[in-house]
Amino acid sequence: MHYDYLVVGSGLYGAVFAREAVKAGKTVKVIDKRPNIAGNVYTEDVEGIHVHKYGAHIFHTNNKKVWDYITQYAEFNRFTNSPVANYKGELYSLPFNMYTFNKMWGVVTPEEAAAKIEEQKREANITEPKNLEEQAISLVGTDIYEKLIKGYTEKQWGRDCTDLPSFIIKRLPVRLTFDNNYFNALYQGIPMGGYTKMVANLLDGIEVELNVDYLENKEELDKIADKVVYTGPIDAYFDYKLGTLEYRSVRFETELLDKPNFQGNAAVNYTDRETPWTRIIEHKWFEFGKDDEGNDLPKTVISREYSSEWKPGDEPYYPVNDEKNGALYEEYKKLAEGETNIIFGGRLGEYKYYDMDAVIASALDMCERELA
Ligand code: UDP
Repeated sequence: MHYDYLVVGSGLYGAVFAREAVKAGKTVKVIDKRPNIAGNVYTEDVEGIHVHKYGAHIFHTNNKKVWDYITQYAEFNRFTNSPVANYKGELYSLPFNMYTFNKMWGVVTPEEAAAKIEEQKREANITEPKNLEEQAISLVGTDIYEKLIKGYTEKQWGRDCTDLPSFIIKRLPVRLTFDNNYFNALYQGIPMGGYTKMVANLLDGIEVELNVDYLENKEELDKIADKVVYTGPIDAYFDYKLGTLEYRSVRFETELLDKPNFQGNAAVNYTDRETPWTRIIEHKWFEFGKDDEGNDLPKTVISREYSSEWKPGDEPYYPVNDEKNGALYEEYKKLAEGETNIIFGGRLGEYKYYDMDAVIASALDMCERELA
């Protein structure tokens, strides 16, 4: 069988592309090197709990087109992400909001909080923030930077906050209201039944072959389709010939506990430098909401998340979008533009710290251009 498209990778980008291509009357085959579909949004059922095997994924978007699209393939619950920060046993509300400022400084009004942030920013002498540290201090002041940002960020990225780009911290809102919804997004939730089911719905009726490594079998696989949609790491595609792009990897220690409630929240971030994990995820709270229903389940599954520098053989999770890697990516992109009959897409294919909604938007844009 010869296909119009061979889609390499069954994560969100690949699954959306495959679905749209089939809708446009094309023939498609999807392959994935893992034994399961869904890439890093893969969820696995453990004792009735959908475990986010490759880290917490909370769907959030302001893009109505994306929301209308994805809700055709899953019904979403009303989960709202409100992580808690644990700094040496002191608990703070995230993202940075009036609950956080009250706990940190005892301030009660938004004016008092703003004045405190302004004072600390002035003392730190920051006018134009040049890196993550300066950006963080100018947004929330030194105390919050020291207790809730510095240690966590350095663990997550394995780099000093002065060596990291400021956009990373701008992902988080800062609010002078009592609102601990982590995302400024009109639409938010978790697909009921898990992400794997959502991706399976996208791939419904499409030929999928698992445990197939594209790069190891490139020559034969290229023959089976007119065009390839490649969602793996762009540098791996070119056999790292210009050097390796840096990624952060994550390792999870997952435990099934014989208790109904371990931490009372889906995510608790450990923001000190000494605790070796960055956060603990308690998966059931993504799904059930903080109500009696969740507590009826006598067990719970937790994952401690450890961050590490990616090395060949590890799973890449986060592109390190600093200047050095950005420049190297541009070189790879030039090589990619010189290739024929291949599309590079997704977090790894485009080396971009994409959220799920942005991946879907990017895939839909590509489909509009490619399948028109
Ligand atoms: N961050 C932090 N403290 C926290 C949570 C996040 O300093 O408790 C910073 C950290 O630098 C992180 C960035 O904010 O890399 C973005 O966090 P986000 O939660 O968006 O990261 P993700 O969910 O993609 O891992």
